[in-house]
Amino acid sequence: MPLPLGHTAIGLALYEGVSKRSVFEDWKTPLAAALLANLPDIDVFLGLLWAWNGSAFHRGPTHSLLFALVAALLYARAAALWKGLPRIGFKTALLLVASHVAADAALSSAGVSWFWPFAVFFSQGSTGWGEVTRMALKSNPIDATLGFAAFLVLALRRGLLLLRAARAPVLPRENVRR
Ligand SMILES: [Zn+2]
Repeated sequence: MPLPLGHTAIGLALYEGVSKRSVFEDWKTPLAAALLANLPDIDVFLGLLWAWNGSAFHRGPTHSLLFALVAALLYARAAALWKGLPRIGFKTALLLVASHVAADAALSSAGVSWFWPFAVFFSQGSTGWGEVTRMALKSNPIDATLGFAAFLVLALRRGLLLLRAARAPVLPRENVRR
């Protein structure tokens, strides 16, 4: 199953793919994109705090389409109201949160709750604080592969942008706005 590093790699590459601007144009955007791509796993912390078991609610409501829609809507509204937050629109935020659920579903055998509240698949077992910390810090081959793939996507896009900028005609000073 992808861990934080894997979800972050997918999120950053996805942002680069769908957005007109690069995710690395400022320092806040990659943080916000990583946060949205990892947001569904907030259920691990809720489980740890509530029942001392990270698996108690894992892959339940927060791993659903409904959660992705609500989270994306809330983020887009908050970013429109509060200028301190990076501007990530509803559609991009939705893709980032949903990418988490899609990656969990595709890369592990256990189910996710896409259609909660109509269907729910909680993960099994018991996971304490120590185990959650170990899992979050440790990297597995899938995460390393996803990280490398994301790096290639980012490097390729950066290269293409630089190439386009190099080919663009230089405009006279007074025609350049902003
Ligand atoms: Zn997850």
